[in-house]
Amino acid sequence: MTTRTTAKNSSRTPVAEAAEAVEAFEAVEAIDAAPPSAVHAVPAPQTPPTQRPVRRAAKVLLRPKSDGLIDFIPAARIQELLERPPADAAEVQAVLDKSMALQRLTLEEMAVLISATDPEVQEQMFETARQLKREVYGNRIVLFAPLYLGNKCVNSCKYCGFRRDNDKVVRRTLTDEEIRAEVRALISKGHKRLVIDYGEHPDYSAEQIAHAVNIIYSTKDPDRPGAEIRRINVNCAPLTVEGYRLVKQAGIGTYQIFQETYHRPTYAEMHPRGPKSDFLWRLYGQDRAMEGGCDDVGLGALFGLYDWRFELLGLLAHAIHLEETYGVGPHTFSFPRLKEINNPAFEPKYAVSDDDFARLIAILRLSVPYVGMILTAREPAELRRRLIDFGVSQIDGGTHIEIGGYSENHEDQDLSREQFRIGDERSLEEVVAELIEMGDVPSFCTACYRLGRTGTHFMDLAKPGEIKHRCAPNALSTLLEYLIDYASPETREAGERLIARELEQLDEKDRALATRLLARVREGKRDVFC
Ligand code: SAM
Ligand code: SF4
Repeated sequence: MTTRTTAKNSSRTPVAEAAEAVEAFEAVEAIDAAPPSAVHAVPAPQTPPTQRPVRRAAKVLLRPKSDGLIDFIPAARIQELLERPPADAAEVQAVLDKSMALQRLTLEEMAVLISATDPEVQEQMFETARQLKREVYGNRIVLFAPLYLGNKCVNSCKYCGFRRDNDKVVRRTLTDEEIRAEVRALISKGHKRLVIDYGEHPDYSAEQIAHAVNIIYSTKDPDRPGAEIRRINVNCAPLTVEGYRLVKQAGIGTYQIFQETYHRPTYAEMHPRGPKSDFLWRLYGQDRAMEGGCDDVGLGALFGLYDWRFELLGLLAHAIHLEETYGVGPHTFSFPRLKEINNPAFEPKYAVSDDDFARLIAILRLSVPYVGMILTAREPAELRRRLIDFGVSQIDGGTHIEIGGYSENHEDQDLSREQFRIGDERSLEEVVAELIEMGDVPSFCTACYRLGRTGTHFMDLAKPGEIKHRCAPNALSTLLEYLIDYASPETREAGERLIARELEQLDEKDRALATRLLARVREGKRDVFC
């Protein structure tokens, strides 16, 4: 087991030790079907033990062993911070100045922003979040699509339509050919970036995920140069270090996993059974990813399970932990908000209003200025329009989350086939056209990860605000590619006007670079980036 060279501590970390323990148990399991007492197996197939083939045992999903892992979320301190009196304008301004200097905030400073209740002070926070977003990322918005590959699940997350005990959901795992059909449908619309999603199940092993990643990358349209997926991010159950190594070798971009809630009593209530009930195993999912070589990791919390203020501080504590342990924090934050499912299993008590949702997005932006922020189609179009400005850098477009939904053209959402209801059902073209109208540059850029600008390399550019000198030219060249190959004449015209305006606003060096890239795209070259 190796630890990353960027790690502050070069000795073996608790996560490496725990992961080794799990791997050791798995090895024992493969030759002996009787699980060691310290490991709880998810109920195995009902074959009598004497007839059970030895290899079968390797497929038993082990309850992870998180002994020895330390909970780094300072819950008591977070609670204390949430009880502080509201900050006044001067205190808030001092924190905003630090954000504008592109410094990551401390928990105490984030709590100052959370505590501010005065509407004028809050408006000042929104305005600073807007400015900061432009400072670090410019006005580009990266577009992606989620692709669900399988919804079998051994967990019982109460908020999720795919939970094990939901017998009103249709279970399905795409075959290789069905995956290809989905990818063909996605690339025919112009998509270049995906996040693949799975339930948690022995069928969705690291090997299987790596296999799917290979299929997706190799699916192209022979008649359309450049029609291909160029970056695949993954949202699946936490893996072992070896598992992460395998999916990294297959070429994944960001590995993202959401802690759902950082409040342990709520976590226990929401995840009563299955491997996901182990809070610490999940909490260290990103650590193991780092140790397996996935240095772009995403964090997230499912807002609506507990007090959003607590979750924000939990997310920041998690980011600080990664920064301190590996020398690099998360690549992205996700902040899904609880949505309707079929056959609900609990009554939400902490629904987050639209206004609080806007606040929490702005506060996250201000607290970790250089982390990408993902706002998904869970939210309705009008709200997304408003929220993008407060710091969002990535959104999905043309989203279908029913399994097989891109190639099978289901007209309406069918909750018996989906994890939850989405609020924005617009096509990719509609989303692109709206961004152009808003003056934002839709970007299909995948340059960083393909040029090895991941982990610390990316943050070295992002932290001082330098990354926009790459993002801006790449956004324009990938937008032009989209406009020429996929857009309607009206969207192409509006997009060409936007590109011309954007070029004028770039400094001389960036303009020269962007002009060169654009010229190559007009000559018929595809996938050009810097
Ligand atoms: N099954 C894997 C896991 O739990 O880590 C992969 C993630 S799942 C495909 C994507 C995410 O959707 C979950 O982590 C959760 O935050 C979110 N989600 C689940 N139920 C939801 C709901 N009712 N509304 C909104 N988001 C939900
Ligand atoms: Fe399964 Fe993930 Fe849904 Fe939980 S959130 S039930 S792990 S798909």
